[in-house]
Amino acid sequence: MPLRQQDSPGALAFQTSRHRDMRTPVRRLVGIGVGPFNLGLACLAQPITDLESVFFERKPAFDWHGNILMTHARMQTPFTADLVTPADPTSPFSFLNFLKQHGRLHAYMIRGDLYPLREEFNQYYQWCANQLENIHFGHDVTDVEYDDAQQCYRVHTENARTSTPAVTAASALVIGTGTVPRWPDGVPRNVNRIIHSSQYLAQRPRLRDCRRIAVVGGGQSGAEVFLDLLQGQDTHDHELLWLTRSTHFFPTEEGKLTLEMTSPTYIEHFFSLAASKRKDLIQAQHNLHKGSRLDTLAEIYDTMYAHHVRGSLRAKLLPATSLQRIDRERAGASLRLSLYHNHLETDSTREVDAVILATGYQDLLPGFMDRIADRILLDSSGHPDLDLNHAVDINRGEIFIQNMDLHTHGFSTSDLSVSYNDNSRILNTVTGRTVYPLNPGVLFQDFTPTGD
Ligand SMILES: Cc1cc2nc3c(=O)[nH]c(=O)nc-3n(C[C@H](O)[C@H](O)[C@H](O)COP(=O)(O)OP(=O)(O)OC[C@H]3O[C@@H](n4cnc5c(N)ncnc54)[C@H](O)[C@@H]3O)c2cc1C
Repeated sequence: MPLRQQDSPGALAFQTSRHRDMRTPVRRLVGIGVGPFNLGLACLAQPITDLESVFFERKPAFDWHGNILMTHARMQTPFTADLVTPADPTSPFSFLNFLKQHGRLHAYMIRGDLYPLREEFNQYYQWCANQLENIHFGHDVTDVEYDDAQQCYRVHTENARTSTPAVTAASALVIGTGTVPRWPDGVPRNVNRIIHSSQYLAQRPRLRDCRRIAVVGGGQSGAEVFLDLLQGQDTHDHELLWLTRSTHFFPTEEGKLTLEMTSPTYIEHFFSLAASKRKDLIQAQHNLHKGSRLDTLAEIYDTMYAHHVRGSLRAKLLPATSLQRIDRERAGASLRLSLYHNHLETDSTREVDAVILATGYQDLLPGFMDRIADRILLDSSGHPDLDLNHAVDINRGEIFIQNMDLHTHGFSTSDLSVSYNDNSRILNTVTGRTVYPLNPGVLFQDFTPTGD
């Protein structure tokens, strides 16, 4: 791939050894992927004058789960868990400043809800992203290599619109490429009536003519999709099925003492435990990060009740039911779901016209890291061996991975209310000083008691 310096973004183009002052090591953080985690990093890095940073995102503009942003869907985390506030409440990138700049602060106070609409938070994220000139949208990172001579990483990008390649040098990489939709075994791909929830709104028009629709998965996405279809029953003749393999449709636990376990102190405690203990705890803490919001489940119940009163209820919930496979005899034919009841230990089948897989997301180390695999530490299970600061490289300070730390940092891995802590740690490590103090805060539980 040719090096074309003029195609690299702005002044941050990779400099060949001919042009570069060999005495000056590259000191530049490159963020790969811009979802909420790396967007928060970009906001917090912005005031650090002696740290150059550049971010690449393959999408043409910031968009947070746009295909599942239902009109009334609310955040699962309060607005104080925005991109910056817990690390720096004086930052201009706060949600409150966004509201102020848009003339909505007073209206928001009247609304009186800690939990913003997801659509509004997406707008807030976009507002922040649009102010940061060092985020390069429409740039796909295709490859990363290590340059032994220059002792830096070379990040290869491709302009998504023009296919123009470019290379940027970096002393630190922060991988924020997120998770990928999970597609269950036994479910055929490329059937246009089998949709992953991450594509729901884009594909929803196709569902209009489908009479029988099954939603698979009892998490928040499954709940929101099912509720949306349920609310549409007044205008569409849908017959709905919602199934979960869990014992019941349970709410994510959000008690105040439970929420103390999303604190940096608990994360440090979890990190200090033996790997086998962490693994057990992740299972035991299932209810803390799976399931759906209590109010979404209540709204589903109330909507079903109202349909029942009107005599128009055409929906059924199937708990403890695992989807085994989906078959269809020919293109256009109905889809046959093979189901297994986990408690009765019985098999059954159901015919439907469309399926929405709300089966979640999974971690995957991006392929562009293949050529730097020898610089990445893995644990005995093959997972990235992150340290507390999210560094995963052999020197513990060059390659950081966001949101892939369930096995090391615990159940709050993808929780946006902890991203400030991850980003503070990353920036403190990269700069070699405490730019953002790690404040343990007030806790009423002693997670690591040492006795009197
Ligand atoms: C519908 C939904 C709602 C959620 N709501 C909440 C909530 O209210 N509160 C909460 O705490 N958590 C919530 N979560 C969980 C979590 O916070 C989100 O999944 C969040 O988006 C994770 O952010 P991220 O930055 O790690 O990754 P992502 O948001 O997935 O962003 C990763 C980005 O990397 C880009 N990318 C990937 N590969 C490349 C490449 N090679 N080159 C360039 N760019 C690349 C992608 O295009 C993408 O934009 C929600 C999750 C979902 C699915």
